[in-house]
Amino acid sequence: MEQDLQAFTAEVRAFLDRHAAKAPDRTAFTWGEGDDSMAYFSAETPEVERRRVQQARDWQRTRHQNGFGWITGPARYGGRDLTPIHDLLYDAVEAEYDVPDTGTLSVVGLGMIGPTILAHGREHIKDRWLPAMYRGDALACQLFSEPGAGSDLAGLETRAVRDGDGWIVNGQKVWTSVAHHSQIGLLLTRTDPDAPKHRGITAFLVPMDAPGVEVRPLRQMTGGADFNEVFLTDVRIPDDHRLGEVDGGWTVALTTLMNERATVGSEGSGPVAAALSPQRLAALMRATWTWDDRALRARLAELLVDAMATGHLNALASRKLRAGITPGPERSVSKLMYGRNLTRAAHFVADVLGPRAIADTGQWGTYAWSELLLATPALRILGGTEEIMKNILAERVLGLPKEPGVDTRSPFRELRRSGAGQGGTE
Ligand SMILES: Cc1cc2nc3c(=O)[nH]c(=O)nc-3n(C[C@H](O)[C@H](O)[C@H](O)COP(=O)(O)OP(=O)(O)OC[C@H]3O[C@@H](n4cnc5c(N)ncnc54)[C@H](O)[C@@H]3O)c2cc1C
Repeated sequence: MEQDLQAFTAEVRAFLDRHAAKAPDRTAFTWGEGDDSMAYFSAETPEVERRRVQQARDWQRTRHQNGFGWITGPARYGGRDLTPIHDLLYDAVEAEYDVPDTGTLSVVGLGMIGPTILAHGREHIKDRWLPAMYRGDALACQLFSEPGAGSDLAGLETRAVRDGDGWIVNGQKVWTSVAHHSQIGLLLTRTDPDAPKHRGITAFLVPMDAPGVEVRPLRQMTGGADFNEVFLTDVRIPDDHRLGEVDGGWTVALTTLMNERATVGSEGSGPVAAALSPQRLAALMRATWTWDDRALRARLAELLVDAMATGHLNALASRKLRAGITPGPERSVSKLMYGRNLTRAAHFVADVLGPRAIADTGQWGTYAWSELLLATPALRILGGTEEIMKNILAERVLGLPKEPGVDTRSPFRELRRSGAGQGGTE
């Protein structure tokens, strides 16, 4: 195995040397030099955003043409049939190079929707969409959350009704990341309101250009519009676009959500690395004359210790993968800590900066942090809120009693009337 990994690493390096330049050493930065952006979400014009998405697609195509488009995927759909540890190795080596950020494709589409289609799609759907997605041709979005269903996802109300060999869908989704760039969406619908809420859900793959699908952007306080509301009005979906069984959509959703936690918790570059870089934070304190503040230094130490602990946790998960064991609790803890560490870093810096966090004085490396500060509420929500992650940890890792009040037996129709049954995913 070790020999195989060495050969694979050499192959990755040879590919990257041919197609990309080495990235500057991110740890050895000099205060005041280079780009000081700390943006988590984009705040670009639609034109610039479209260009970036195109660059991401082009780079994904280059990866694919060279055998790195879907490292763990089956060869039949353009994958390499290798292990998650090969995937991690690829990411680690690629991080040393200056390549386009492919997050728009990978976080939701390739990281979550692809594995769900592979597990639950019909053959013709897999043949049609999986190679296209991992080649960078098709982007996918996750049509799960609704105005009245987020943490309590099984309370969703978008309705699908049988119509001959297809289904007619009506409803509304919200917070749909990258829907405005996507060709397909993984959609959860209610098909049996008389069944208990987790049992009357059916999943479909919907082409985003189908008549009746309307995508409206939502503007965030960070300036950009990465999310959307998606309205579905009399949308016709053929039954062969169904994923999993009729009324068996909850199983499909769980496949996606498991991959979501793994994807979110493992993001470790870009603003994340910068926000938790000891060098950068110490340099910021020196530049703002706060280095001698002992209370701030104690908080800095706590923050860095937690960041290191999270790093070790991720390393533990990698070692488990290397040993052929699927990591379990590490993923949920890692997802929880990911949001917490970044939020604490941004709040710490806000205290260091004082008014400079909200008024741009032009000083390098200061006001730029406001971009991350404004993004932090979202980091504690996306991929399952902090409270929901704690509930999962309490029940499944610590073995504490299940949260009371989750009604998994009454028909969904009755829950809606009584308002009962809220309180987190199963
Ligand atoms: C950056 C970002 C990207 C997103 N992208 C997508 C996407 O692409 N597709 C998609 O479908 N959705 C997406 N979402 C939506 C996301 O999944 C939901 O926002 C999330 O699940 C929370 O649901 P909610 O917003 O309805 O909040 P609610 O569920 O209404 O929660 C409100 C508050 O109540 C707390 N709460 C709820 N239930 C419990 C409980 N049982 N115990 C304790 N506290 C509880 C929550 O923690 C939270 O603080 C995205 C969200 C963000 C922020």
